[in-house]
Amino acid sequence: MGASVFRRAEALGEPKFMQMALRPSVRLVLVTAFVLGACPAHAWAWGAHGHRIATRIAEARLTPEARKEIRALLHEGDTLVDVANWADHEGHDAVPGSASWHYVNVPIDAARYDPRDCPRGACVVDKIKHFRKVLADRRAPKTERTRALLFLVHFVEDIHQPLHVGDNRDRGGNATQIQFLREGTNLHRLWDTDLINFVSRDERVWVERIEPLLSEDNIRSWSRGTVEDWANESLHFAKEAYHFPPAAKRALQTGSALDKNYATFAQPIIERRLAQSGVRLANELNALFP
Ligand SMILES: [Zn+2]
Repeated sequence: MGASVFRRAEALGEPKFMQMALRPSVRLVLVTAFVLGACPAHAWAWGAHGHRIATRIAEARLTPEARKEIRALLHEGDTLVDVANWADHEGHDAVPGSASWHYVNVPIDAARYDPRDCPRGACVVDKIKHFRKVLADRRAPKTERTRALLFLVHFVEDIHQPLHVGDNRDRGGNATQIQFLREGTNLHRLWDTDLINFVSRDERVWVERIEPLLSEDNIRSWSRGTVEDWANESLHFAKEAYHFPPAAKRALQTGSALDKNYATFAQPIIERRLAQSGVRLANELNALFP
């Protein structure tokens, strides 16, 4: 969230889409960062794995029509999974000012999202709606629709990460320094990346875990609702994420030390949110490309 102090995801793939104009400079920056042994960049999202997992769930649910349109918008050979993290890297560089589009800061003690939480429409709630419209406009230039697709995929996933919505005046947990299994991290990064990696770094393992959640009943109930509802669900889970053990009166503070019990509590929430974002992303794209 915000200008988080968060290293770039380690496993940066190099899909063809990224081999565009910026590629040499991006590569130089990455190589330089690697050589220096530090990646002093930012991330604004579920980590790379979270996005890839959710997009895999979505990709499996696309209609043939949607697949065809998506193929026409992406560079040849790229899949949605390949480009799911574009917005955190090239997209961020290509569109100055887009950092705040990845989240919305809703006070953790608020009952629900309020449009006032989204000043000038520069938050994830309004941007999902905006890029939907661009994609739906078949007269818009192809480059614009391609970009809209890349942002939409990414943001439908980001809004499902609880700490991309709930905020305890700490930039969605970015400023709350904690220990997880005796390693230093922050609460935001814990949910973006650390908890996912703790279970497995293999996205196929995650997809298999999520599979049983994709029941007809779940899909039916997840397929209702608005973008604001998705934000409110994240806010609900963020309240839980900040208050551990469950029902703790005081929110987690800098200096908190979390162990395996926190991972056990968080894992079903993460599975559910990745599953929901995958299903809803597929719904969006299937509806946009009938
Ligand atoms: Zn993001």
